[in-house]
Amino acid sequence: MRLLIEHATVWDGSGAAPFPGQVLVENERIVAVAPRAEALAADGAERLDAGGKFLMPGLVEGHAHLSFVDTPRGTALGELPPEDHALLTMDAARKLLGAGFTSACSAAAAKIRLDVAVRDAIERGHTDGPRLLTASPELTVTGGLGDGRRLHLHQDSFGVAVDGPDEVRRMARLCLREGCDTIKLNISGDYGTESALAETTVMTDAEVAAGVEAAHTIGRRVAAHARASESVKRALRNGVDIIYHCDFADEEALDMLEAQKDRVFTGPAIGIVLARLESLRGDNSWQGQGFLERLKPLYEATCRTHHEMRKRGIRIVIGGDYGFAANPQGTNARDLEHFVTHLGFSPSEALQAATRTGGEIMKRGHELGQIKPGFLADLLLVDGDPLQDVRVLQNRKRLALIMKGGVRYVPCEGPPHVRRLH
Ligand SMILES: [Zn+2]
Repeated sequence: MRLLIEHATVWDGSGAAPFPGQVLVENERIVAVAPRAEALAADGAERLDAGGKFLMPGLVEGHAHLSFVDTPRGTALGELPPEDHALLTMDAARKLLGAGFTSACSAAAAKIRLDVAVRDAIERGHTDGPRLLTASPELTVTGGLGDGRRLHLHQDSFGVAVDGPDEVRRMARLCLREGCDTIKLNISGDYGTESALAETTVMTDAEVAAGVEAAHTIGRRVAAHARASESVKRALRNGVDIIYHCDFADEEALDMLEAQKDRVFTGPAIGIVLARLESLRGDNSWQGQGFLERLKPLYEATCRTHHEMRKRGIRIVIGGDYGFAANPQGTNARDLEHFVTHLGFSPSEALQAATRTGGEIMKRGHELGQIKPGFLADLLLVDGDPLQDVRVLQNRKRLALIMKGGVRYVPCEGPPHVRRLH
């Protein structure tokens, strides 16, 4: 396969200004990038006239939950049989690719092998989807976020309850054995969990350390759900690699994040917060009002914290907990708009978070997330200019071509799917 993409406006993901240019792809990689006026040795290559279009790196979803299949409640995921759940997860992978996301870093699966089975099916060519780094279910303490059980009722959710370092270690090792690339630890609570609210830090130091040791021993990573300030510090002190949310990080937590900014990744996952705020508007029920009272300060804290984190150069990825009814799979590009509207990012900064920083969180910053010779040919050809208005990426009709490793796709009409071109 040899393809010359000509006459495009090339934005390479580095943060440099776009330029009129051409990109030569050979098999799965980019082999040359040149300004329009320069002659490129491309004899015999197929030519694609991208006149008037914007060529950029494929998007990276930094907080994916492909097995969260748009249910209203977490416990509804626990009710799904594994076979049905695997098919729905596969479907979500196709939707994500169809939305222009050529890579995804999972922030938890709802069952231990869901991400793993779908990742393997994608890699073997049995189904279409983004490059996927898989994650375990959310390891949580009894009563923590994702523990859906009640005393009288066994109820699975997206979490697995483990208490004490021995149980954390055993479950982490089991998930690692089954193929998970990342172990997810819920160190803080969340706004919807009565017995562990967002400002509380419920997983102990010893439990976090046990999970990190199990993963790092075999070269894999740990991601944390960490809204409370102390949970961010606990994650950092114990070597957690990816620290999501960070909403209530205080000055000391921000200083610690900054000191480790070359090692850690963060991501606010603001999409779900905004979707919930939106859905609660006009809900006058007692429960709705209670949620709103908790969510508003969390939203304000997230905005404040991420303005500061951006200024300090801490690596932040897009990804907003897509996969709930209010925030469905395939609408993930909305996060770019959220970064610009709520977190103070310029369109270029938001796009860099979604491409170059995305390549880095995929552990492939040397070959993923930018348009450079030698990099993987993960590209997006857009009918519009996302630097003027990032919302253009939410319109699948404007995605003229999605390329993953040199393979061409177009989004389908109707449901948010994708079609392989050859
Ligand atoms: Zn999440």
